[in-house]
Amino acid sequence: MVPPFPLPAPMRRALALARAAAAADEVPIGAVVTKDGAIIGEGENRNRRDCDPTAHAEIVAMRAAAAHLNDHRLTGCDLWVTLEPCPMCAGAISHARIARLYYAVGDPKGGALEQGPRLFAQPQCLHRPEVYGGLAEAEASALLRDFFAVRR
Ligand SMILES: [Zn+2]
Repeated sequence: MVPPFPLPAPMRRALALARAAAAADEVPIGAVVTKDGAIIGEGENRNRRDCDPTAHAEIVAMRAAAAHLNDHRLTGCDLWVTLEPCPMCAGAISHARIARLYYAVGDPKGGALEQGPRLFAQPQCLHRPEVYGGLAEAEASALLRDFFAVRR
């Protein structure tokens, strides 16, 4: 997909959340959920702070959006995230019935959509969102690279 220009506001917000995560010594990944163009949930990685292996940005954002809607499904909602989702988050995205998924950069190591398990392509996957990847490859990958560079 050709990246839209200018970068949509929800992805800019997700990138800001990723930077906030890095400042808190968390892996810099951010996510927001939108409905009809408005942000109804947002999250950043919180694994260390919350001692929670499931506290990925996407999960945090979807929990907030579900609480906002008072519904366990996010039908008609879009998810914007700075990195290709992992298998756990891809599964949750399917369960939540997210309509469209936008991510900034692919993840050759941990991604579950374009590589690895390719979860949405499996016949057992009951709901597949529309997927648009590569919206902000340079910015999102630089965030991750800089974060891990000082820790290795
Ligand atoms: Zn994840």
